[in-house]
Amino acid sequence: MDADVPVVGAGAAGIAAARRLRARGRSCLVLEAGSRVGGRAWTDAAGLDLGASWLHVAEVNPLTALARELGFTLHDDGRRRRDLLLAEGGRPATAADRAALEAAGDAWEAAVAARAAQREKQGGPDIPLGEAPPRGGRWDATVDHWFGAIINGIESRRSSLIDYVATVLDGQNLQVKEGIGTLLTRLAEGLPIRLGTRVRRLSAGITADTETGCVQGRAAIVTLGTGVLPALAFDPPLPAAVTQAIAGLPLAPVLKVALRAAGQERFRLPPFARLGRMVEGPDDRPCSWMLWPFGRPWAVAYLGGSLAESLPDAVSAEAAARAELARYFGAAAVARAFPDPATVAHWPADPLFRGSYSYARVGAAGARAVLAEAAPMGGRLRFAGEACHTRYAGTVGGAWESGEAAAEAIHVALG
Ligand SMILES: Cc1cc2nc3c(=O)[nH]c(=O)nc-3n(C[C@H](O)[C@H](O)[C@H](O)COP(=O)(O)OP(=O)(O)OC[C@H]3O[C@@H](n4cnc5c(N)ncnc54)[C@H](O)[C@@H]3O)c2cc1C
Repeated sequence: MDADVPVVGAGAAGIAAARRLRARGRSCLVLEAGSRVGGRAWTDAAGLDLGASWLHVAEVNPLTALARELGFTLHDDGRRRRDLLLAEGGRPATAADRAALEAAGDAWEAAVAARAAQREKQGGPDIPLGEAPPRGGRWDATVDHWFGAIINGIESRRSSLIDYVATVLDGQNLQVKEGIGTLLTRLAEGLPIRLGTRVRRLSAGITADTETGCVQGRAAIVTLGTGVLPALAFDPPLPAAVTQAIAGLPLAPVLKVALRAAGQERFRLPPFARLGRMVEGPDDRPCSWMLWPFGRPWAVAYLGGSLAESLPDAVSAEAAARAELARYFGAAAVARAFPDPATVAHWPADPLFRGSYSYARVGAAGARAVLAEAAPMGGRLRFAGEACHTRYAGTVGGAWESGEAAAEAIHVALG
């Protein structure tokens, strides 16, 4: 026996599960395929968060208190939506444009909530999120792109209305100066973690087959994202309901491109400036920008949905981001300000993730609960991770809570 509980994956869920197991007096061994801990929370050497960068719903997020205890610096810029800088034809937006966009955003949210409430009252099938909001108004496509492809990571027509409403995020959003990846690295200190250990198969018993040998335990927690979970073999195979739940929760294709300003050019924008522009036509798919976080010289692009899907590699992603930034400042100024190659976090292309965070396909709104409650192998196997959280799916805090819940369930199962 190597440990009571092998934990597969050292992202937020795996770290939380391991900490909780140890607190309950159970031995564990975290098996991580990559060369670092943190998973989709990754702070690079320059201090940039290339995956998660906000502690969402910070009031109840368990990581907020942990960050404060460890003395991390938390920042709230107080804004919910992006600044709008460009309207029709790329002209600078006016105060009236901003007010109209804000009103269209409120109308979008109200229509989605009303449609979901109506469906709950009257029953009926799940529908695409994109069928609920208003259409045809001047700002409707822009708002829908923002809530869909940018925030949710996937166009609204491709995701479930019921799941969207059940997991929608509100409350305070905090950024961590030292990085969320750094926070998770600190929280993983002292845990038994084997890096560079990819698990290929999990068998009842419990045996985890890795490229460097077998790990034996009494129960297991699997925290892989749903982009790569189908590649893990289970013996006996998982119940059909569980494989269906995994298939119903794909990862959205969000990627980040970070450009570093070499000189002092800041385009007269303050720290944490957010750029956005009007969507002009059905094929227009803007990315969203955060500039100068914590006063640092970075311009960070968020690319999601079908735009991200159309960019197979770092080169094409950087080119798309530069072209987009050129709409605001001109190509020559962008080339001058950012002469160096970008840092690109291409999550969809990364074989350990294959995407960013989960959304539910239309009709798969119940999948998160199925995955969270699944207890195959006689209750000795549990799943954890952001996709398993029925309220805070897609977030680091949700992944953390789900890891703790899985650890509690396994603790009980072991008697
Ligand atoms: C671009 C981007 C922006 C985001 N922004 C935010 C944000 O602002 N706020 C927020 O809360 N969330 C955000 N998220 C989502 C958040 O990062 C995730 O929800 C969360 O980190 C998921 O944690 P997890 O433990 O469920 O999974 P993961 O972090 O994916 O952990 C799973 C681990 O398993 C490992 N692994 C994979 N295959 C194997 C294998 N076969 N054997 C062993 N190990 C394996 C992986 O390397 C990984 O470390 C963002 C994500 C991305 C990509």
